[in-house]
Amino acid sequence: MNDLPSDLKIIRNPRARRLRLRLDRREGFPVLTLPKGVPERTGLAFVQENLDWIRDRRAERPDPIPFLPGTRIPFGDRELLIVRTPDGRGNTRLNDDCLLVGGDETHCNRRVTDWLKVRARERLKQRSLFHADRIGETVSRVRVADQSSRWGSCSGRGVLSFNWRLILAPDHVLDYVAAHEVAHLREMNHGPRFHALLATLLADPRQGDRWLSRNGPQLRRYGMVLADS
Ligand SMILES: [Zn+2]
Repeated sequence: MNDLPSDLKIIRNPRARRLRLRLDRREGFPVLTLPKGVPERTGLAFVQENLDWIRDRRAERPDPIPFLPGTRIPFGDRELLIVRTPDGRGNTRLNDDCLLVGGDETHCNRRVTDWLKVRARERLKQRSLFHADRIGETVSRVRVADQSSRWGSCSGRGVLSFNWRLILAPDHVLDYVAAHEVAHLREMNHGPRFHALLATLLADPRQGDRWLSRNGPQLRRYGMVLADS
């Protein structure tokens, strides 16, 4: 079994009813779920039988856009060009429309991702506090994460979580998601009262939503880890 995918991830799940093979939604590596009592070699034989399925599903996925020198990336309403700087020690920094990244090229994707996450958190925190202040609600914490399926979420304790890739979307889209989650601080549903509240925060709440359903999948391509098969 030496041609198994090198990035195969095996998960043991006692509650699983059967062997299951899928691709990770975000990064595309194959994931095998083993139910209780099923030996690993049985699972690996199952993967072996389904190598064509894995290859076909991977081929259907959109190409990732890693953050490499020479890549142009959206950044709010702007566009940045990733430029590698010869000085290895310099921090990642903005110079007009160039994002200067020092160090080895193999670390470029990671460094740009880290830089974008910091900017995303700053901006989302600023917009969330702004909107929360307008409706007299309190945000206890703003975090950014690598959520695979959602752009934002709101916990019962006032913690707002956002997908860091929102920093790549136009400003009005990031602002929409921040206002949307802030409105959930008071209305934990999508009922009429929630929409009425959101309408007090944004001129056209549907605009951001429409943009995300149309362009969200494109945004998720950025910074994706390249599969090695
Ligand atoms: Zn919602």
